[in-house]
Amino acid sequence: MSGIVHLVGAGPGDPGLLTVRAVELIAAADVILYDRLIPPEALSHARQDAEIVYVGKQGEGPQFPQDDTHRLLLEHARAGRRVVRLKGGDPFVFGRGGEEALVLHEAGVPFEVVPGVTAGVAAPAYAGIPVTHRDLASGVAFVTGHEDPAKPDTALDWPALAAFPGTLVFYMGVRALPRIAERLVAGGRPATEPVAVVERGTLPGQRTVLATLADVAERARESGVRAPAITLVGPVAALREQLAWVEARPLFGRTVAVTRARAQASALAARLRALGATVVEAPAIRIEPLAADAPDLSRYDLVVVTSPNGAERLLELLRDARELAGITVAAIGPGTARALRERGVEPDVVPERAVAEGLVEALQDVPVTRALIARAAEGRDVLPDALRARGAAVDVLALYETVAEPLDDATRTAAAAAGHLLFTSASSVRFYVAAAGDGALTGPRLVSIGPATSAELRAHGAEPDVEADPHTPDGLVEALLRDTARVPDPR
Ligand code: SAH
Repeated sequence: MSGIVHLVGAGPGDPGLLTVRAVELIAAADVILYDRLIPPEALSHARQDAEIVYVGKQGEGPQFPQDDTHRLLLEHARAGRRVVRLKGGDPFVFGRGGEEALVLHEAGVPFEVVPGVTAGVAAPAYAGIPVTHRDLASGVAFVTGHEDPAKPDTALDWPALAAFPGTLVFYMGVRALPRIAERLVAGGRPATEPVAVVERGTLPGQRTVLATLADVAERARESGVRAPAITLVGPVAALREQLAWVEARPLFGRTVAVTRARAQASALAARLRALGATVVEAPAIRIEPLAADAPDLSRYDLVVVTSPNGAERLLELLRDARELAGITVAAIGPGTARALRERGVEPDVVPERAVAEGLVEALQDVPVTRALIARAAEGRDVLPDALRARGAAVDVLALYETVAEPLDDATRTAAAAAGHLLFTSASSVRFYVAAAGDGALTGPRLVSIGPATSAELRAHGAEPDVEADPHTPDGLVEALLRDTARVPDPR
């Protein structure tokens, strides 16, 4: 039986623009044939055992002949595989998707087309430029700026393009910019007409040059604009002066490195990206569950959980959440409280200050004879000591340990070059320094989640530039925003 080929658009770069359908198909694919201009994150949805083949040919990288792509598509489909042909933007907009679909049609191989957000719409949108507008542009034309050298010079009808009553969007036109501008003016387009060149649209580091047909070639050359870029010609380009929104985000242009464990870094990274930051994920630690027996909770009147990981592991171990009935449950902070709630347990005590000292305070008036503290193997002893000092018996149940995660060279370099380094625990400081070297704390500004983390930074000879309050991920983001508002981008 023949397989099927899905011609899938992956959007222009921001992984948030991948469609749900695209993600589903990538996750189900046996084989993925992909181009250079896809968001790299797109491939992270692929199965471990999927065959992933680069068949790109744009730009200066390796060139994969189109005929070979056709051959691979047919071979894999005929072998009964589910093939995803993954393309940047939309597969049917300058992506040769049309050619590939024809080859499949002629060979009788079933195919499906999954549209993507095309760069010609997405890059302007992220630059604050609507490609149409009731008063300014009632049409939009997608044009290739890079003409096939084999084609006669007349492949594009320049007078007709110049006369087009609406916005012109040129793909692949960076090198051809001077010629594009010249011919449009020669064809009657006003030299004062606004032009925007959007480089790396929707990606971190997106840049836009706003000019006119008269000076766009020079301005783009001065700013060193490079592919991939979209060139948009039309009065709508000027709307960017009011509508540029990406640049208005508080962390636009900032690079922030996050050192926490990968499993927990993603929510924080997503928040930082939404605020406009370029995020380097440099997980120097990893959470390793420890084998443990289910504790006999009937012996305790207090159960303390000191982290979301602890909450997750503890409730995994319990056979029945009702075992917690009648016992005071304390969570160290809002994240831990949330992790408990998500598993059907409402904590009785959550201190205002999300540190061990805060929890000691909050437990002051709670009668305790025997307490169980579920936490990491290497936690601080502030809480057990304080409870014991009150005469309570305390058992510490180590549910996981935090272990070092090696960082590859690229990640180390990127983190060292970041404007800010974020630390969410003392162990992340320790392991980050171990993985990245002594000098790793000297370049970027340092943001600490709280006093224990700050103390660890100081122990490594580094003074945190800002400390979060409250000592939570939310507080950490606020501290970062405070610091960026205070200091210009240090890099
Ligand atoms: N099928 C793709 C276009 C492929 S042609 C789509 O629908 O978007 C490649 C051209 O697309 C590049 O030369 C550039 O002009 C444009 N492009 C792709 N990604 C881009 C991005 N992130 N920012 C600006 N232009 C981009």
